Parts: sequence; structure tokens; C-alpha cells
Amino acid sequence: MPNRPAPRRFTVLDNRLLTPGMRRITLGGDGMADFPAEQESAYVKLHFAQAHSERPLLRTYTIRHQRADAVDIDFVRHTHGGPASRWAEAVEPGATIDIGGPGPAKRVDATADWFLLVGDMTALPAIGANIETLPREACGHAVIEVHDEADIQPLDAPAGLTIDWRINPSPGRRPDLLVDAVRELAWRPGRPAVWAACEFSGMRRLRTHFREERGLPREALYISSYWQLGADETDHKAAKRADAQETA
Ligand SMILES: Cc1cc2nc3c(=O)[nH]c(=O)nc-3n(C[C@H](O)[C@H](O)[C@H](O)COP(=O)(O)OP(=O)(O)OC[C@H]3O[C@@H](n4cnc5c(N)ncnc54)[C@H](O)[C@@H]3O)c2cc1C
Repeated sequence: MPNRPAPRRFTVLDNRLLTPGMRRITLGGDGMADFPAEQESAYVKLHFAQAHSERPLLRTYTIRHQRADAVDIDFVRHTHGGPASRWAEAVEPGATIDIGGPGPAKRVDATADWFLLVGDMTALPAIGANIETLPREACGHAVIEVHDEADIQPLDAPAGLTIDWRINPSPGRRPDLLVDAVRELAWRPGRPAVWAACEFSGMRRLRTHFREERGLPREALYISSYWQLGADETDHKAAKRADAQETA
């Protein structure tokens, strides 16, 4: 297997509360020198040192904005512990962090006739980046679950794209919320591009809906689980692998 490229070292430039449930951390410094351009919506792997291992713990996040000298990463605030959320709560400008990636940008197929983007707050950075790069004449819907009304963010969406914000103060504990909202939508004529990401159980319900109830072909659908209630990222990855084998 080829060696992974070495991570880049970034410096924290800013850490602020974006909404009550989300922190925005701006990163710059040496890591930007050869960071590829236009990576909004791509994922990166944050490295956290472990006490009893030389190997870092990796956590996956999305590039929300990119400028010549900095990127923004938005962290959902949660109280279940975990190295990434703890780091985001406490880190101050001047601290450094090693980051692997970026992996491929997760963009919807811009040639589709209409678009549907669905996700919870962990997917909001990728959904926001996608919506803001859609053609201005694009039409369709976004359904986005947030913890609270105050977590609704202004997004620069094309006029023909409606955004349905759903409130769930207990993330991961209402796995039907997004699929129920999607069922209420009028399905448009033409070829859709559907993008969806959220907690594991919600993802499975959405996937069943899109594949079995809507008959969406695989190429029209990007769907991913971004986290799992009660599982850290390592266990969540194992659950994703088992799920992929079951549904292959
Ligand atoms: C491709 C991809 C892109 C992602 N982009 C983002 C992003 O831009 N912003 C973002 O915030 N997240 C994003 N995520 C999700 C993020 O990687 C996970 O939430 C991750 O588990 C957080 O790490 P942690 O160290 O805080 O918690 P972990 O150590 O992984 O888990 C500890 C505990 O916290 C719980 N937990 C983890 N995440 C949440 C959550 N969001 N809400 C409630 N409980 C939780 C777990 O169930 C576990 O019980 C992305 C995931 C993927 C796969």
C-alpha cells in the first residue's frame, strides 16, 4: 500500500462561536503553503496525539471556506467527549495541529436537472459549500437538521433552491426526522442529484428511502454516515465497513 503523504502543520488563527451549536476555527500558517486550491467541501483528517501510542487519533472534518492564506473548519459542539470536540472548545490562536488530506471534494453533479441536499449539523459545512457553488439557476431543495433555531445559518443559495431547516435538540436520537421531511417534498421531474450525510441510523433510513422508495440509481446519490451515536470515530468506521458489506 502506498505511504500516505505526511500531514501538513497548521496554526490556529481564530476560534469563535459561529452559532450556539457550532465553532468556527480558522487555520493558516505553513500548512497553507502547498495546500491545493478550491477544497471547499473536501474532508481532512485532524491528528490528535495519544498518550500511549505513537500513532495519532484521526478525526474527519470538512473545509468550509478556503482563502489564499487560511481555511475555516466548523465543529459541531457536543457533550459526549472526544478529542476533536474537546480541542475545538479549548484551543486558542497560536496553537498548531497536523492535518492529513484533503480527500476528494464532495460535490453534487452540477449537470443534474435539480438538486436535493440533506444532512445534520455535521454535514452543514459540506452542504453550505455545495449550495454556494451550485449554478445560480439551479433549483431543488435542502433539508438541514440543526440543534436549535439559533443554529440556522445564512446560506447564499440559488433563488430556486428552498431550504427547510428542522430543529432537533437531541442529535442522533430522532433518526426519522430527516427522512420524514424528505418524504414531504414534492419530487420534481427530470434527473436529480441527491447528496445526503448525517448520523448513521438516519443515513440508513434515508438510503432505504432513496434507493427503495424513490428508485434512485446509484450514480444520482451520494450518501454517507458522518458520525454514530454512542460510537467514536474508530468504532463508527468499523460499523460503516460492516454496513457496506451488508448492502454491497
Ligand atoms: C467526510 C466527513 C466530514 C465531516 N465533517 C464534519 C464537519 O465539518 N464538522 C463536524 O462537526 N463534524 C464533521 N464530521 C463528523 C465528525 O468527524 C464526527 O462527529 C467525529 O466523531 C467527532 O469527533 P470527536 O473527537 O468529537 O468525537 P469521537 O471521539 O469520534 O466520539 C466520542 C463520542 O461523541 C459522540 N459524537 C461524535 N460526534 C458527535 C456529534 N456531532 N454530535 C453528538 N455526539 C457526537 C460519539 O457518538 C461518541 O459517543 C465529518 C465526518 C465525515 C465522515
